[in-house]
Amino acid sequence: MTYRSPIKHCRNCGSVVAYRIPDDGDTKPRAVCTVCHTIHYENPLNVVGTVPYLGTKVLLCKRNIEPRWGKWTLPAGFMELEESTAQGAARETQEEAGALFELEGLFSILNVIRVGQVHLFYRARLLSETFHPGHETIEARLFEEHEIPWDEIAFRTVKETLECYFADRRRGHYDIHQIDIA
Ligand SMILES: [Zn+2]
Repeated sequence: MTYRSPIKHCRNCGSVVAYRIPDDGDTKPRAVCTVCHTIHYENPLNVVGTVPYLGTKVLLCKRNIEPRWGKWTLPAGFMELEESTAQGAARETQEEAGALFELEGLFSILNVIRVGQVHLFYRARLLSETFHPGHETIEARLFEEHEIPWDEIAFRTVKETLECYFADRRRGHYDIHQIDIA
Protein backbone atom coordinates (compact mmCIF):
# COMPACT_ATOMS: atom_id res chain seq x y z
CA MET A 1 0.00 0.00 0.00
CA THR A 2 2.55 2.56 -1.10
CA TYR A 3 2.31 5.49 -3.48
CA ARG A 4 2.64 4.83 -7.17
CA SER A 5 5.71 6.05 -8.97
CA PRO A 6 5.24 8.70 -11.68
CA ILE A 7 4.30 7.59 -15.19
CA LYS A 8 7.36 7.51 -17.48
CA HIS A 9 6.03 6.21 -20.79
CA CYS A 10 2.88 6.66 -22.82
CA ARG A 11 0.42 3.78 -22.59
CA ASN A 12 -0.73 4.55 -26.12
CA CYS A 13 2.54 4.81 -28.11
CA GLY A 14 5.37 4.09 -25.63
CA SER A 15 7.03 7.48 -25.97
CA VAL A 16 8.32 9.54 -23.04
CA VAL A 17 5.73 11.59 -21.15
CA ALA A 18 6.17 14.97 -19.44
CA TYR A 19 4.17 16.25 -16.48
CA ARG A 20 2.45 19.52 -17.39
CA ILE A 21 -0.95 21.19 -17.11
CA PRO A 22 -2.88 20.39 -20.30
CA ASP A 23 -4.13 23.33 -22.40
CA ASP A 24 -7.80 22.37 -22.05
CA GLY A 25 -8.69 24.32 -18.90
CA ASP A 26 -7.34 21.64 -16.58
CA THR A 27 -5.71 22.86 -13.36
CA LYS A 28 -3.49 19.90 -12.38
CA PRO A 29 -0.24 18.64 -13.90
CA ARG A 30 -0.83 15.42 -15.87
CA ALA A 31 1.46 12.96 -17.60
CA VAL A 32 1.18 14.11 -21.24
CA CYS A 33 2.79 12.16 -24.07
CA THR A 34 5.45 14.22 -25.83
CA VAL A 35 4.64 12.52 -29.17
CA CYS A 36 0.94 11.58 -29.44
CA HIS A 37 -0.20 14.06 -26.73
CA THR A 38 -2.36 11.49 -24.93
CA ILE A 39 -3.17 12.72 -21.39
CA HIS A 40 -2.78 10.04 -18.70
CA TYR A 41 -5.09 10.80 -15.78
CA GLU A 42 -4.21 9.30 -12.40
CA ASN A 43 -6.88 8.72 -9.78
CA PRO A 44 -7.04 7.18 -6.30
CA LEU A 45 -6.91 3.41 -5.91
CA ASN A 46 -9.32 1.42 -3.73
CA VAL A 47 -8.09 -0.89 -0.99
CA VAL A 48 -10.81 -3.27 0.21
CA GLY A 49 -10.88 -5.46 3.30
CA THR A 50 -12.86 -6.80 6.23
CA VAL A 51 -13.15 -6.77 10.00
CA PRO A 52 -13.65 -10.52 10.56
CA TYR A 53 -15.15 -11.21 13.98
CA LEU A 54 -16.24 -14.20 16.03
CA GLY A 55 -18.15 -13.41 19.21
CA THR A 56 -16.08 -10.77 20.98
CA LYS A 57 -12.88 -11.53 19.04
CA VAL A 58 -11.44 -10.03 15.85
CA LEU A 59 -9.21 -11.80 13.33
CA LEU A 60 -5.85 -10.23 12.50
CA CYS A 61 -3.20 -11.42 10.04
CA LYS A 62 0.55 -11.14 10.58
CA ARG A 63 2.06 -9.87 7.34
CA ASN A 64 4.54 -12.06 5.48
CA ILE A 65 5.16 -9.34 2.84
CA GLU A 66 6.61 -5.85 2.69
CA PRO A 67 5.80 -3.18 3.54
CA ARG A 68 5.40 -3.70 7.30
CA TRP A 69 6.56 -7.32 7.33
CA GLY A 70 5.73 -8.99 10.67
CA LYS A 71 3.11 -6.37 11.63
CA TRP A 72 -0.56 -7.21 12.17
CA THR A 73 -3.32 -6.16 9.81
CA LEU A 74 -6.94 -6.75 8.91
CA PRO A 75 -7.22 -8.71 5.65
CA ALA A 76 -7.20 -6.11 2.85
CA GLY A 77 -5.67 -5.39 -0.53
CA PHE A 78 -6.07 -3.56 -3.81
CA MET A 79 -9.41 -3.95 -5.54
CA GLU A 80 -9.17 -5.73 -8.91
CA LEU A 81 -10.91 -4.81 -12.15
CA GLU A 82 -14.16 -6.69 -12.80
CA GLU A 83 -15.09 -7.07 -9.14
CA SER A 84 -17.24 -5.09 -6.72
CA THR A 85 -15.86 -3.64 -3.49
CA ALA A 86 -17.65 -6.37 -1.51
CA GLN A 87 -16.30 -9.10 -3.81
CA GLY A 88 -12.78 -7.69 -3.44
CA ALA A 89 -13.06 -7.55 0.35
CA ALA A 90 -14.27 -11.16 0.42
CA ARG A 91 -11.48 -12.28 -1.94
CA GLU A 92 -8.76 -10.63 0.16
CA THR A 93 -10.17 -12.22 3.31
CA GLN A 94 -10.13 -15.62 1.63
CA GLU A 95 -6.59 -15.16 0.26
CA GLU A 96 -4.95 -13.70 3.37
CA ALA A 97 -6.78 -15.53 6.16
CA GLY A 98 -8.36 -18.59 4.50
CA ALA A 99 -11.38 -17.97 6.69
CA LEU A 100 -15.00 -19.13 6.39
CA PHE A 101 -17.23 -16.11 6.83
CA GLU A 102 -20.39 -14.29 5.89
CA LEU A 103 -19.88 -10.74 4.61
CA GLU A 104 -21.96 -8.07 6.38
CA GLY A 105 -22.32 -4.32 5.96
CA LEU A 106 -19.85 -1.65 4.96
CA PHE A 107 -18.14 -0.40 8.12
CA SER A 108 -15.47 2.20 7.31
CA ILE A 109 -14.37 4.43 4.43
CA LEU A 110 -10.96 6.03 4.91
CA ASN A 111 -9.48 8.61 2.54
CA VAL A 112 -5.71 8.33 2.61
CA ILE A 113 -5.21 11.53 0.68
CA ARG A 114 -1.40 11.71 0.81
CA VAL A 115 -0.99 8.42 -1.07
CA GLY A 116 -4.09 8.65 -3.28
CA GLN A 117 -6.01 5.71 -1.80
CA VAL A 118 -9.49 5.02 -0.47
CA HIS A 119 -9.76 2.12 1.99
CA LEU A 120 -13.09 0.36 2.56
CA PHE A 121 -13.71 -2.24 5.27
CA TYR A 122 -16.76 -4.50 5.61
CA ARG A 123 -17.76 -6.42 8.71
CA ALA A 124 -17.46 -10.19 8.23
CA ARG A 125 -18.97 -12.74 10.62
CA LEU A 126 -16.65 -15.74 10.94
CA LEU A 127 -18.27 -19.17 10.67
CA SER A 128 -15.27 -21.16 11.89
CA GLU A 129 -12.21 -20.79 14.13
CA THR A 130 -10.05 -22.64 11.63
CA PHE A 131 -7.93 -20.51 9.26
CA HIS A 132 -5.81 -21.44 6.26
CA PRO A 133 -3.78 -18.30 5.57
CA GLY A 134 -2.08 -17.83 2.20
CA HIS A 135 1.56 -16.99 1.51
CA GLU A 136 1.07 -13.29 2.34
CA THR A 137 0.31 -14.18 5.97
CA ILE A 138 2.61 -15.65 8.64
CA GLU A 139 -0.19 -16.29 11.10
CA ALA A 140 -3.92 -15.57 11.39
CA ARG A 141 -5.42 -15.49 14.87
CA LEU A 142 -8.28 -14.12 16.92
CA PHE A 143 -7.78 -11.32 19.44
CA GLU A 144 -9.95 -10.04 22.26
CA GLU A 145 -9.96 -6.25 22.43
CA HIS A 146 -7.49 -6.17 25.34
CA GLU A 147 -5.11 -8.46 23.42
CA ILE A 148 -4.85 -6.28 20.29
CA PRO A 149 -1.16 -5.43 19.66
CA TRP A 150 -1.85 -1.73 19.08
CA ASP A 151 1.84 -0.85 18.66
CA GLU A 152 2.29 -3.61 16.07
CA ILE A 153 -0.58 -2.67 13.73
CA ALA A 154 0.66 -2.30 10.14
CA PHE A 155 -1.45 0.60 8.88
CA ARG A 156 -3.17 3.66 10.28
CA THR A 157 -6.41 2.79 8.44
CA VAL A 158 -6.48 -0.61 10.18
CA LYS A 159 -5.88 0.97 13.60
CA GLU A 160 -8.64 3.56 13.06
CA THR A 161 -11.06 0.89 11.82
CA LEU A 162 -10.36 -1.37 14.82
CA GLU A 163 -10.86 1.53 17.25
CA CYS A 164 -14.23 2.37 15.64
CA TYR A 165 -15.21 -1.30 15.66
CA PHE A 166 -14.60 -1.85 19.37
CA ALA A 167 -16.25 1.49 20.27
CA ASP A 168 -19.35 0.53 18.24
CA ARG A 169 -19.45 -2.94 19.76
CA ARG A 170 -19.36 -1.51 23.30
CA ARG A 171 -22.45 0.60 22.56
CA GLY A 172 -24.11 -2.21 20.61
CA HIS A 173 -24.62 -0.38 17.31
CA TYR A 174 -22.55 -0.34 14.12
CA ASP A 175 -22.32 2.83 12.03
CA ILE A 176 -20.56 3.53 8.74
CA HIS A 177 -17.47 5.57 9.60
CA GLN A 178 -15.97 8.16 7.25
CA ILE A 179 -12.43 9.16 8.14
CA ASP A 180 -9.94 11.43 6.37
CA ILE A 181 -6.30 10.64 7.05
CA ALA A 182 -4.23 13.72 6.28
ZN1 LIG B 1 1.98 8.65 -26.87
